[in-house]
Amino acid sequence: MNIIDLHCDALLRLYQTQGEIKFKDAKELETNKERLKKGKVKVQAFALFVFPEVKAEQKFQVALDQIHYFYTDVLGNNPEMKLIKDWSDFENLQDDEIGALLTLEGVDAIGNDLQKLSILYQLGVRSVGLTWNNANLAADGAQEKRGAGLTSFGEEIVVYNNEHKILTDVSHLSEKAFWDVINVAKYPIASHSNSKAIMDHVRNLSDEQAKAMFEKDAMVHMVYCPQFVKDKEEVTIDDLIEHIEHFCSLGGEKNIGLGSDFDGITKKIMNLEDASMQQNLLNELLKHNYSEEIVKGFAYENFMRHLPK
Ligand SMILES: [Zn+2]
Repeated sequence: MNIIDLHCDALLRLYQTQGEIKFKDAKELETNKERLKKGKVKVQAFALFVFPEVKAEQKFQVALDQIHYFYTDVLGNNPEMKLIKDWSDFENLQDDEIGALLTLEGVDAIGNDLQKLSILYQLGVRSVGLTWNNANLAADGAQEKRGAGLTSFGEEIVVYNNEHKILTDVSHLSEKAFWDVINVAKYPIASHSNSKAIMDHVRNLSDEQAKAMFEKDAMVHMVYCPQFVKDKEEVTIDDLIEHIEHFCSLGGEKNIGLGSDFDGITKKIMNLEDASMQQNLLNELLKHNYSEEIVKGFAYENFMRHLPK
């Protein structure tokens, strides 16, 4: 079954190693081309991520440097990797091709300058998460003590996203910012978040939040970070399926997708340790009596039914 994975941090790794490792088959990368092929990942989202510690005046350059590796290595060295720049590009992918979608994890890199967001959009960014865990000029992140919501600038960004058919990613937002965003965003998505009712973690969504997403017919993509799944030593695929089951019980069957967070997490779920193992989750779901149609939905089709129009 084809998969679309809405979140990975491979560009951060390529940037950190300054191009020394190659996207094609570097064993250091949990998300490389060979592993995507093996895991039948049809479309992979690649996040731009700039650490909060980077000096404000350098942040935009760091984002551009990561885009450099996206164009020169991910796309440039691998002809079968195809840039997804238009939502209709999904339908044009050939059998041997893998779509690559550029996303932004936190708008810290644009400072207070919407023009910089426009540049990132023109370079291919099609999903924008307002924050990582910290606060920035747009909103507070999930681990910001203040817990404030969306700023006026943050709202301008969401309006920009709406106008340009860019997804607005609510993963990582503070709870208050989540509710502010859900009121404004035309295309909200949670690219990598699990259920707080199953695992009480600040990065997960409460039942109220999950229900609000499903009622808005927005997608929630499950993340493979063990700390967001279960508080135990060896987290299993079965533990992750508990989150899927719970979201289904809240009416999310047609709104659940996948967002691995490979290359951005240190610990792994057993047998779900890099992109080549993606099918293991689907096989386990089938064993849990989910129909093929429903599993196909989680893997790919649900997202396809929710492309911005
Ligand atoms: Zn993240």
